[in-house]
Parts: sequence; structure tokens; C-alpha cells
Amino acid sequence: MEETDELRGPAGREGRPCGTEGGGVSAGNVGFVGLGNMGSVLAGNLVGAGCAVVTHDALGPHRSPDGAEYVPDVAEVARRTDVLVLSLPDGAASEQVAHEILAASGRRVRYVVDTSTVGPAAARTVAGLLAEGEVGYVDAPVSGGVAGARARTLTVMYAGDDKACSCVEGVLAGLSDRRRRVGDRPGMAQALKLANNFLSATTLAATSEAVAFGLAAGLDMATMLDALNGSSGRSAATSDKFPAHVLTGRYAAGFTNSLMDKDVRLYLGAVGEQGGPAAIGAATGALWARFAEAEPGADFTRIFPFVDGA
Ligand code: NAD
Repeated sequence: MEETDELRGPAGREGRPCGTEGGGVSAGNVGFVGLGNMGSVLAGNLVGAGCAVVTHDALGPHRSPDGAEYVPDVAEVARRTDVLVLSLPDGAASEQVAHEILAASGRRVRYVVDTSTVGPAAARTVAGLLAEGEVGYVDAPVSGGVAGARARTLTVMYAGDDKACSCVEGVLAGLSDRRRRVGDRPGMAQALKLANNFLSATTLAATSEAVAFGLAAGLDMATMLDALNGSSGRSAATSDKFPAHVLTGRYAAGFTNSLMDKDVRLYLGAVGEQGGPAAIGAATGALWARFAEAEPGADFTRIFPFVDGA
């Protein structure tokens, strides 16, 4: 297994056809299903990298990026492409799309790259399902937000067998400049992604409580953030999310509290299955569950006013 695949340029920009490197997949288009906050940007990155992109979303074409071709169903994407990328809300959606891929008459798709956060169990289920139809699966969740996706600094952490990973290398390179292979079995990248989002959820919630405390003590938020960013309390919450979305009042990171609640639930479920410590996890999970229930679909950076007013 390769340890890392770092900072390779997008395949299309290097003149190589997307999805064709190293594994015998014939030159062809890249499919993209799920054009939400994240998927619409990732599909645009593939277009920008020189891939011919065929898209679909259950809600229609309105977020299909310029330069991509929108088609009316998943079956048509599966007939037109060798590698199909998913950016869907959860494991149930990935499983449903996998069934639609397998049912597509005359399908050509050979590999599915799932960038959705679905958890290890769902990744294994979808991989097993697709394997029955001789379609390979690369578990490839992403971290870095919509802004990171636009800047191509988003981390794509991925896991799968050597052949599948090698065959989809060009497509992964089209998604982002930052990629890391973390395992040789689907589900391993999901485990890392859940650990990451548990940390992100906890840090953002803890920073919200700490800032609320500071404001009540008479401190100014900008001063607090500036000092924290030069101190040991620094994190992505203090250096990025708070300055960009809380201090400015924008609250537009492009990731919902409902998705973060899903991720923390998946994390706690996976910890429960494996057995392991979850004292902080339980507190983080309870807070995000309350926030998602109170304001479903709110930008996740609104955790601060939720905590501050709670
Ligand atoms: P989103 O809700 O904005 O978009 C999901 C899209 O999938 C929607 O457009 C929806 O219509 C479509 N969809 C759902 N079921 C479908 C189906 N069966 N067939 C076709 N289309 C279907 O979500 P998002 O924020 O874009 O996130 C997508 C995935 O990426 C999630 O798993 C999320 O956890 C993960 N993620 C998001 C971010 C972020 O910053 N937004 C960051 C990292 C990871």
C-alpha cells in the first residue's frame, strides 16, 4: 500500500485523461451524483481539471457546474462514465445510488469514488453491494469545507484496494490537490473522517463555550480570537470558523448542523460497536443533537449563538 499520494497536479491539467491512469480503465467521462454544497464545488473542480463531467442530482440541474453535462438519472451517468463520484448526505443515499448503478442497463461504470461521510459500516456495505456487479469502490471522504474545496486545499482521505485506488488516481487528483491514502479497505477512510469530525465538532462547541465565557467577562471577541490564535487554545475553530463566520456574522460555512449531528452520531455508533472511550463524545453528541433538533439545517457555525443563548 502506498503511504501517501501528496500534491499531485490534477490529471486533466497534466494532459492525462481523467480516470484512466494506471489501471486499465478506458479514457472516458467522470460521473458525479449529488450536487449539494460540497458536490457542486467538487464537480466544478473536475471540470476545471479538464475532465468531461456528467452530473445528476435528485433535486435537478440547478447546481450542476458550468461545463458539465447534466443527465436526468443515475442510470444514464452509469452508462456514460467509467468512474462515478458520489457526494451524498448519508449511507442510505449512497446505498440507494449503488442499487441504481447496478440496475442500469448497459452500464459502463467500473469504479465508484464515495466522497460522502457515511461511516465505516455503510462504506463496507456499499463496497460489498457494488462488488457483486464487479464495480470497485474507493471510500474517499473529504475535510476542509466548501471554501477548502474551492481552493483545492480540501483533504481527500481515501481507502481501497491497490487496483481501485490506482485506477481512480486521476479523478482524485481532479477533486483536490491534497490527497492521502489511509488504508487498503473501504471503511478505513470513513473511520478517520469520523474521528476528524468528532474533533471538529468538539472544538467548535468548546470554543463557543469559551468565547461566551470571555464575552460575559467583558472581553471583546476579536481580541480574544487574536490572543487565542497565538496561544495554546488555537484550533481551526479559533483560526478559521470563528473569524470567518461568527465574528463577521456571516454564518455561511456551507455545512449544516444536521450533517454534523449525523457525523457525530456515526462516530459514537462506531465507537460503541468497537468499544472504546466516549466520555467527551457523549457530551459533544448531546449538544449537537440538541442544536440540530432546535434549528434543523442551520449552518454549523451557528453553534455559537445556540450555545451563547442556551
Ligand atoms: P447537501 O445536503 O448540500 O447535498 C447533498 C446532495 O445530494 C443534495 O443536492 C441532494 O439533492 C443530493 N441527493 C440526495 N440523495 C440523492 C439521491 N438518492 N440521488 C441523487 N442525489 C441525491 O450536502 P453537502 O454539504 O454537499 O455534503 C455532501 C456530503 O459531503 C455529506 O455526506 C457531508 O457529510 C459531506 N461533507 C460535506 C462538507 C461541507 O462542508 N458541506 C464537508 C465535508 C464533508
